[in-house]
Amino acid sequence: MTTAAVRFAGVTKRYGSAEVLRQVDLELAAERTTAIVGESGSGKSTLLQLINGLVRADAGIVEVLGSDLETVDLLALRRRIGYAVQGSALFPHLDLTANVTLLARLLGWSAERMATRLGHLLELMELAPELAHRYPHELSGGQQQRASLCRAMMLEPPLLLLDEPFSAVDPITRVGIHAHFERLAASEPVTVVLVTHDLREAVKLASDLVILRNGSVAQAGPCDEVIAAPADAWIERLFRSQLG
Ligand code: ADP
Ligand code: MG
Repeated sequence: MTTAAVRFAGVTKRYGSAEVLRQVDLELAAERTTAIVGESGSGKSTLLQLINGLVRADAGIVEVLGSDLETVDLLALRRRIGYAVQGSALFPHLDLTANVTLLARLLGWSAERMATRLGHLLELMELAPELAHRYPHELSGGQQQRASLCRAMMLEPPLLLLDEPFSAVDPITRVGIHAHFERLAASEPVTVVLVTHDLREAVKLASDLVILRNGSVAQAGPCDEVIAAPADAWIERLFRSQLG
């Protein structure tokens, strides 16, 4: 039996009168990668922000790493959640090392512990030691994106949330970053929730798939099962147009 790292029960989120997520029931398996796909505006980013408590549900229960978000200490929980968004969102005035180690430093990690973890992540992401003191503008787009993954993983979070992290890089660089991501996900017992509008990327990187449509879960399950048995004609068309 797999345990869930994230559980949504009857979750609704409104902005004004618009219901951007509607009665979402969902379980994301621990230590697996789940891709959230759907058209722009379908609620993908909102779903991630509900998981790290950046936005709060208007109804329903969100449980993350065993805690109900209504009662948990959010700051403590967020330290256990890595988060990376589109573009790299690195701090422009900090070099690569300072960007990656910022939170560990604030939390009082020893220099030795920080250096060990940083070195491990840079090696995993194939970021050469001579890049460690470059500023973001001195790094390529692909290097920035890999640095941002290092930053998200610095505190060894059991949960990693990625919001279209690879969509700003060119297609060739993206293939390389996919390989780096897969190495990272395989090397640590981390649950990954990957938001993407690219179904091919989803199927390549994730074991589970959640398809959002207008704020509702259209279908969810292991990638191969969902693809083998699309729940309705709309999903079948989506697969045919993007995977066919
Ligand atoms: P996606 O990531 O799938 O493109 P989002 O979760 O960002 O979708 O947005 C879902 C819907 O919620 C969209 O219609 C969007 O305009 C709306 N929305 C998102 N964030 C806000 C906000 N802070 N205030 C008002 N509306 C928002
Ligand atoms: Mg989004």
